[in-house]
Amino acid sequence: MLGYTAAAGPITVARHEVMKPNLFGKTLPELEAECISAGLPRFRGEQLFYWLYNRDVTDFDACDNLPKSLRADLAGTYTITHPECADEQLSADGTRKFLFRLADGRQVETVLIPSESEEAGEPKRLTICVSTQVGCPLDCRFCATASMKLKRNLTAGEIVGQYLGVQSVSDRRITNLVFMGMGEPMLNYDEVMKSVDIMTHEKTGGLAHSHITLSTAGLVDGIRRMADEGRRIKLAISLHATTDELRRRLMPINKKWPLRDILDAAEYYYRSTKRRITYEYILFDGLNDGEDDIRRLVKLTRRVPSKVNIIPFHPVDSAWPGGPPMQLAATSRERIEEFAQRLRAQNVTVMLRSSSGRDIDAACGQLAVRHDQTGP
Ligand code: SF4
Repeated sequence: MLGYTAAAGPITVARHEVMKPNLFGKTLPELEAECISAGLPRFRGEQLFYWLYNRDVTDFDACDNLPKSLRADLAGTYTITHPECADEQLSADGTRKFLFRLADGRQVETVLIPSESEEAGEPKRLTICVSTQVGCPLDCRFCATASMKLKRNLTAGEIVGQYLGVQSVSDRRITNLVFMGMGEPMLNYDEVMKSVDIMTHEKTGGLAHSHITLSTAGLVDGIRRMADEGRRIKLAISLHATTDELRRRLMPINKKWPLRDILDAAEYYYRSTKRRITYEYILFDGLNDGEDDIRRLVKLTRRVPSKVNIIPFHPVDSAWPGGPPMQLAATSRERIEEFAQRLRAQNVTVMLRSSSGRDIDAACGQLAVRHDQTGP
């Protein structure tokens, strides 16, 4: 393709390489529409969907129920490009962390977490935590990803690619998926939901909606939209504080959507989906781990059926070139246990997360930040 570039002086002509569109990441209706617009029968879309997401093909030639001439035409028009695994770390506790390189050289991380504690009667879980953005614009003070700022959103294919890429090297089936890696999923809503539609489609044999959790810093418009669209995936809210004053300091997004609005949206989500809400709560020594915090946390969890995930803090000092924007320290293990116990005594459902992968940069964004050399 010839491209024309306006420059000072005469017009110059630059030769660009043609970028073939990537089919990986397209939903079934999109693949069907693509086939119909190319003059092919609709069912070819369904066949492609199967090859892309059930059989993990990266070469059209492998699609052996498509005519050879069609395979050649497809290869001349499209690509099937997955993110590539560039690095992997294994923690002593079984947590595996993957670094995926994207087509433009950017990198994101994905974590595979064996279940830590089971709820009664549940089968053993294997949970994948996927990224939705390269970096993040939300600037939460405790987060390594925030130090990268936002580089770009991921495509649905880059999200699904993390899931299929990790599944392909895991000897156990992934049972659960959380959008809790790098980025704020609500800021990349359309691509995230496309990835949900692909990964939960009956023809991919994929995940149940009830085994997918989207974690948000509290973007109220996204929560309400997700409730209205009715996918019924689980909602987790990164709470981390029980007062607006502290939450504004920890999470600047709280200036736009304070706790009252977030809790209203959480109630709206519960009433629309009947899914219990999860509140994520990282404990910071002397900041949000006091008796008043317990009292306020109990009160706010009573509003709709919910549970609290208590998360030990992983210090991220090294991720911030100029030092962290706020001094934060981890609450002691004893106080974490006590905090959880006090909540349980008030009939709050509490999950105490262990420090999964503490030895492998497992706090959100730390591995990718360390590898990020791609500039702004
Ligand atoms: S905690 Fe999540 S929302 Fe906040 S900056 Fe990090 S990635 Fe973004």
